[in-house]
Amino acid sequence: MKLTLSETAAALQAARTLVLTAHVNPDGDAIGSTLGLKHVLEALGKRVTVLLDDDIPAGFAVLPGYDVIRRPAEGESIDCDLFVVLDTMTDRIGKTAEVVHAPRLLNIDHHHTNPGNNKEDLYLDASRAATCEIVYDLAKAMNATIPESAAMCLYTGLATDTGFFRFSNAAAHTYRAAADLIDAGAQPNVISEALEIKPMQTVKDLGEALAQFELFADGKAAGIFLTQEQTARMESTETFIGHIRVIDGVDVAVVLKCKEPQLCRVSMRSKRVDVSRIATQFDGGGHVRAAGCTLKLPFEEARKTIMAAIEQAIREGWIA
Ligand code: AMP
Ligand code: MN
Ligand code: MN
Repeated sequence: MKLTLSETAAALQAARTLVLTAHVNPDGDAIGSTLGLKHVLEALGKRVTVLLDDDIPAGFAVLPGYDVIRRPAEGESIDCDLFVVLDTMTDRIGKTAEVVHAPRLLNIDHHHTNPGNNKEDLYLDASRAATCEIVYDLAKAMNATIPESAAMCLYTGLATDTGFFRFSNAAAHTYRAAADLIDAGAQPNVISEALEIKPMQTVKDLGEALAQFELFADGKAAGIFLTQEQTARMESTETFIGHIRVIDGVDVAVVLKCKEPQLCRVSMRSKRVDVSRIATQFDGGGHVRAAGCTLKLPFEEARKTIMAAIEQAIREGWIA
């Protein structure tokens, strides 16, 4: 069932014990929205656990609560009043789904591709740049004060999902929320410095990846295609796509990583083409200008498949 902002705030207020989670392969918005909501709710006297079924990149260690995020353990069972899934539809949360038992599930998201379902409560606001922006809205709707710890976490998601306030999803409301969060104690420079720093090897890996990028679709698309060997060797690849997105004339940028012999992860960014439409063709999703999917194909086939899909989108003008 689709909920309104005040119904969602009421659901959070009614619960005494909560488990929060977000998507696997977590980004700043997944981590920031779960931790930020945890701090807001704890200030209201609630007991809150954050479970994320993945490793959390070390750059996020500046966020208060980083240390208490944990992975669901084998055979574990947690009871709570309310289970909240943030920044994704409810099927991308790994093993967390199996260990949490709650009479009610609440999904809070900003991806327009989230279809919801009739079993779960969904609060979806695709006009918000980040799920962290929605958590800020919810804190206001609950009349809750935003502690400094929450401000740091929520600012992080605003920053990372907008490319540090450069992408078209950053709206006036996003900047107002950011300003409020800075008033509440968020330190933008501390966050951006912590997230910017990279191990030397990552910069070397970027060099290797950029040396092999390919232009296609008459120069309107650029791709980096990493074999299973490269994907296994390279620890952090998230920033690669930003470096080919900026090439003059390129509309769609894609990074494909081969994770297993028959499984490749695809990330896409665009200037005009609706890449979420490409991603949903392959059961993925995301936003108009940032989307992703997983292809259950071997490397070469996956590479050809996604290149053909992008070429079609450009040729047919899937503009949004
Ligand atoms: P990424 O390229 O991984 O940074 O993802 C870009 C956007 O697409 C993010 O908002 C993701 O949440 C979304 N996304 C990525 N992969 C998937 C997927 N397999 N299914 C649904 N949404 C996805
Ligand atoms: Mn996310
Ligand atoms: Mn997000």
